[in-house]
Amino acid sequence: MEANNSSGEDCCVKVAVHIRPLIGDEKLQGCKDCVTLVPGKPQVQIGTHSFTFDHVYGSTGSPSTAMYEECVAPLVEGLFQGYNATVLAYGQTGSGKTYTMGTSMKDGSHTGLIPRVMNALFTKIETLKHEIEFQLNVSFIEIHKEEVRDLIDSSSANKQELANGHTGRVTSPGKPPIQIRETSNGVITLAGSTECSVKTLKEMSDCLEQGSLNRATGSTNMNNQSSRSHAIFTITMEQMRKLHPGTSNDGNLNDCMTEDYLCAKLHLVDLAGSERAKRTGSDGLRFKEGVHINKGLLALGNVISALGDEKKRKEGLHVPYRDSKLTRLLQDSLGGNSRTVMIGNTISYLKARSGESCISPADINAEETLNTLKYANRAR
Ligand code: ADP
Ligand code: MG
Repeated sequence: MEANNSSGEDCCVKVAVHIRPLIGDEKLQGCKDCVTLVPGKPQVQIGTHSFTFDHVYGSTGSPSTAMYEECVAPLVEGLFQGYNATVLAYGQTGSGKTYTMGTSMKDGSHTGLIPRVMNALFTKIETLKHEIEFQLNVSFIEIHKEEVRDLIDSSSANKQELANGHTGRVTSPGKPPIQIRETSNGVITLAGSTECSVKTLKEMSDCLEQGSLNRATGSTNMNNQSSRSHAIFTITMEQMRKLHPGTSNDGNLNDCMTEDYLCAKLHLVDLAGSERAKRTGSDGLRFKEGVHINKGLLALGNVISALGDEKKRKEGLHVPYRDSKLTRLLQDSLGGNSRTVMIGNTISYLKARSGESCISPADINAEETLNTLKYANRAR
């Protein structure tokens, strides 16, 4: 049961683009699409720019089933084979990152990627549990202003506040800061964060729900529910193969250890809004937050573009994981033997104004959409 180190995959980073449909007032305001899909190809066009990705999910219908099957299900399968993996939702505030990941409880009827992952995991575990003993742990943290914070707080005070309907952040005074550490064999660990051992789908969903409620939010000009933090939901799965009496086992303990134990983790990341700080129209504290968030996204962009460049990878190019907390935390699950999917979420609309062409460089959404496509394109 050892993970194969010589992965035959041509590229360890896959990139998909999700274009969210018009919602609410946008339809009433007569918004027009500014991103065009190229039929039959995973390609999009915006103005004179054209980009090709691994997958493109358009603004009609509900893309989440196909997105799960094509982008995420293989990573869940890989988890059972011992491969670490990361799913990243990138895009400007309001583009659908939280909706796509399913990190929020407010979209009740919608099933985002995380709930689908949880369902698939438990369905598969059910079929294997006679042969393999599973141990599942989840953690849910956020990185805000280069500081790691726990979103699952096991303290009773926190539970009490949640029970009273308090949905804001609850901090435990005196709790030491969470630190990212690396073991001698390159495994990244989080010292000081809550690791919940879960046995059932319900217990895992409860962790997601509690963390979502705790997630720091702040208001900007664009969306007062927007978050300037990266939220990272991590599922760690250990597998111990049960020994069957009668099957060949020469009693060699070392063989037994390497063959019968696997541990892998899956990070599901709802990244901070990718809009640039100046666009929030804010200053002082807010502006500083913007600068810090850019640090994580900037480092992530550099890391995944370095990973996507096979030629440079072979030459032993330095991958700048240490440039931000985000990339440091994801280090053992980005590149190497692990699989990564980045979903670039975009808004595809322009407010129709008479006499204006569809793509106006001044249009803030078109500009951000173009930035997202360019960022996602760097990963390929
Ligand atoms: P973000 O997390 O990127 O700021 P959200 O996930 O909060 O964006 O999405 C913004 C709004 O768009 C929400 O009201 C959400 O319900 C809606 N939305 C996002 N994606 C879709 C989709 N594929 N279909 C329908 N509504 C969507
Ligand atoms: Mg969000």
